[in-house]
Amino acid sequence: MSLERLLSDISPPVAKVLDRALSGVLLDRADAEVLLEAQGPDLQALLRAADVARADDKGDVVTFVVVRNMNFTNICYTGCTYCGFSRHKDEADAYDYPMEVLVEKGRNAVARGATEFCIQGGIHPAKNHTHYHEIVTALKAEFPEIHLHAFSPEEIDHGHKQSGMELEDYLRWLRDAGLGTIPGTAAEILVDEVRDVIEPNKLKTARWIEIIKAAHRVGLRSTATVMYGHVEKPHHVAEHLAIIRDIQRETGGFTEFVPLGYIHEKNKLYNHLGARPGSNTPEDLRMVAVSRLFLRPFIQNIQMSWVKMGTKLAQVALLSGANDFGGTLMEESISRESGADHGENLPAEAMRRLIREVGRIPAERTTKYEIRRIFKDPAEDPPSLEPDREAELAGPARFRQASDRDRNTLLQIEELR
Ligand code: SF4
Repeated sequence: MSLERLLSDISPPVAKVLDRALSGVLLDRADAEVLLEAQGPDLQALLRAADVARADDKGDVVTFVVVRNMNFTNICYTGCTYCGFSRHKDEADAYDYPMEVLVEKGRNAVARGATEFCIQGGIHPAKNHTHYHEIVTALKAEFPEIHLHAFSPEEIDHGHKQSGMELEDYLRWLRDAGLGTIPGTAAEILVDEVRDVIEPNKLKTARWIEIIKAAHRVGLRSTATVMYGHVEKPHHVAEHLAIIRDIQRETGGFTEFVPLGYIHEKNKLYNHLGARPGSNTPEDLRMVAVSRLFLRPFIQNIQMSWVKMGTKLAQVALLSGANDFGGTLMEESISRESGADHGENLPAEAMRRLIREVGRIPAERTTKYEIRRIFKDPAEDPPSLEPDREAELAGPARFRQASDRDRNTLLQIEELR
């Protein structure tokens, strides 16, 4: 079989769009829709094209950030139908961490090498703008070197409405207290006919755009996200991507784009409202690849979510257009409460291993994508900063205990290497 056979398997519409994307032509929404429906050889060609674009845009370095998530309260009455995280204040597992708990979590994170705290919570009806300001002030006072990446546009909206300030003044007030960047979450799909179904009480598209642009104008850069795999259609995703690209062309404020697959297991949107059962593997990879091709050259950092995908699929995403592995997290509640089961802590040493296993070079970055250290040689990797843990072993008790024979076995394994 000749190599031409591989190319001839690709359908003409997909081949045309991929050719345009790799030639540096800006894709339009119709192009994105074509790619978002790619299957079989078309899908494989899409993934390969996105990988080529990734190599051209970002080379072989794959970045990650050592970060601690802090979901400071789960009390929220917004009622987003895909949310398994929020609780009424009277529920047994409702929580609202006092500042001392956040500071303690911060200390633990710093000891484990964190450079960023990612701080988001529910929309607590009894809290106002001063609460957000207090969180930033308290953490910055204790950890002046740590970058605070905090408060989704929904949280900004909630605080701003109660502040009596102009939006930009409110954002400057938080920035001057120590806020570094904001998460571009609460985006889901930036099309109101979808938002009206999945999150009828959440901020609308125009307000999300207003807040993000205002943040960028006052020097608060942000991430950008999409949540897919529920009720949206390809034309909604294409519209969303176009909005994100337009904002970036205007402000240059996005640091990265992060596709987030919908986790369906434990929430109402799937169980009672008939949404699709979350994103599937082709959809996850397609979304990463289309993000790479559609958003270039304006957004060049495409992150995949190992929490949503799991680490094995995340490795495939690195071969499909992604160049960033995201954060170590250390703790994660929002996806877990909706049914994600891919863990909540991925230490730097695991990140490095996973990245190297797909033939790429790991590098630790800051929140704003400044490279802190490239890890070219595994022999020069720093020691783990994770607390010592006993490995969990299964099997008969007598085989679980260390024995003299283990020493010989270790030597034999060393010879096999
Ligand atoms: S997604 Fe956020 S705003 Fe919506 S219900 Fe959950 S915690 Fe509240």
